[in-house]
Amino acid sequence: MTDLDLKQKIEDLKKQKKAIVLAHYYQNKEIQEIADFVGDSLDMAKQAKQSEAEMIVVCGVTFMAETAKILNPDKKILIPVENAGCSLANFGSEENVLMMKEKYPEAGFVCYVNSAAEVKALCDICCTSANAVDVVRSLKQKQIVMLPDKNLAAWVQTQVPEKEIIAYDGYCHCHNRVKKEDVYNSKKRHPEAIVLAHPEVKKEVWEIADFVGSTSAILRYVELSNEKEFIIATEEGIMYQLRKRHPEKSFYLLTPDLICLSMKMVHLDELYESLKEEKYEIILDESLQEKAKKPLMRMFTLA
Ligand code: SF4
Repeated sequence: MTDLDLKQKIEDLKKQKKAIVLAHYYQNKEIQEIADFVGDSLDMAKQAKQSEAEMIVVCGVTFMAETAKILNPDKKILIPVENAGCSLANFGSEENVLMMKEKYPEAGFVCYVNSAAEVKALCDICCTSANAVDVVRSLKQKQIVMLPDKNLAAWVQTQVPEKEIIAYDGYCHCHNRVKKEDVYNSKKRHPEAIVLAHPEVKKEVWEIADFVGSTSAILRYVELSNEKEFIIATEEGIMYQLRKRHPEKSFYLLTPDLICLSMKMVHLDELYESLKEEKYEIILDESLQEKAKKPLMRMFTLA
């Protein structure tokens, strides 16, 4: 089947099954093109919450599909590739959260959405990289445990110095592998370019960047900027959106290593099979869904 045939069949199945496709900015270009909505984790969660579709196919990693299920318990939520896990989400576990709760009984617990439902269920509030600063500021506790991303936690600490942030020792394998030398080398090649970094990169990288923000914040920054050249320190998939929206500007990926393999597992074939066979359905225990929904809904009251 050609890509054109596949795209037509996907569109037909979407109509027939009253389905929508949500895709993350890190997905392959052909998936971003055919999706009904493309966004970052926060936008995807909001879209899932508002959707009236009967079926939602989440082109992203497992925690994103779980989040859609938690927010839409009565809908059929599918993920095209069953084992599309997030290395960062794998760092958190119930045992570790319980241990930290014992160690820091007075602390507020903020959980990045990049975490399993079991971990969310034990935390006070969720956050994404787009709203982490506002979420931390919103809590009354002075001491805040943020998990699982240590790089995001360190960046939030610089933005909210009045709080004491205790970081969990997790990181994203994709973002964490870039180094400050990559920035210096890229700047040598593109001296006029400004550096835009995601807070999941190492501190040594975000502290020498010109701007630090989530994928949606990076897109917004470029939209409003008069600059013409940008070095991008986040996952490669965002380059498609940047180049599509701003063909007159130049974008350079900081290093070719900025690829999340889990995000690249979905292609048109997998999406088509997912819609046709209604696989792989996300099934979560009902009481777990209820518990994990509370910190998510609390996050939504802020945005
Ligand atoms: S880029 Fe990192 S945080 Fe995002 S889904 Fe991939 S592994 Fe997880």
